[in-house]
Amino acid sequence: MSDQELRKQVVEACHVLSAMGYLAGIGGNLAMRKADRMAVTPSAADYFSMKPEDICILDIHSLEILEGERSPSVESGLHALIFRTRPDIQASVHTHQPVASAMALLNRDIPMVSGEEQSELGEKVPVVGYGPSGTGMLVSALKKKLRPDLNGYLLRNHGIICGASSMEQAIRNVRLIEKAAARYISESISTNRSPGVSAPVIHQALGSLAEYRKI
Ligand SMILES: [Zn+2]
Repeated sequence: MSDQELRKQVVEACHVLSAMGYLAGIGGNLAMRKADRMAVTPSAADYFSMKPEDICILDIHSLEILEGERSPSVESGLHALIFRTRPDIQASVHTHQPVASAMALLNRDIPMVSGEEQSELGEKVPVVGYGPSGTGMLVSALKKKLRPDLNGYLLRNHGIICGASSMEQAIRNVRLIEKAAARYISESISTNRSPGVSAPVIHQALGSLAEYRKI
């Protein structure tokens, strides 16, 4: 795949995820790689009007900008870590999707239940320890949790990051995570099985999300 094709696929994915409401305005970012290069969305991007020439090409080891005029996403380090650690992953998506982000605020792993969830994402989507957006601290927190058998992670108080062998599958995976998060929350409320996960707590978590939708 050429750099131009990578850029086009990233832009198409931005449009799809924006339409789904998963990027929350200018929040979230995504990347695709080919070998040691990755195409990543620019910082402070308007995803609805994004064009292939807005996408940056970076070296996944040094994060050096190889092509592109714009500043790359501040979360480029997270995507590069995933690509360096997991050669099987070709696409990486970081979203602020509402329900899974509420789980990140509640600090709860999301159990994967269905066959498709488990085959695509593993046994759970675990919470990664907190680090401020765009920092080495957040990259280190993800590094500690990254496993070869888990493809999705909740970033504490922030959102999710999810990888797959293609961008198409990464988008399917973020949908699976959102559905699983909604199921976990509704089951927790109806069965009172998870202490601390009650309707008022969920309401408060969803209300707090607005503060975490900027990066
Ligand atoms: Zn973010």
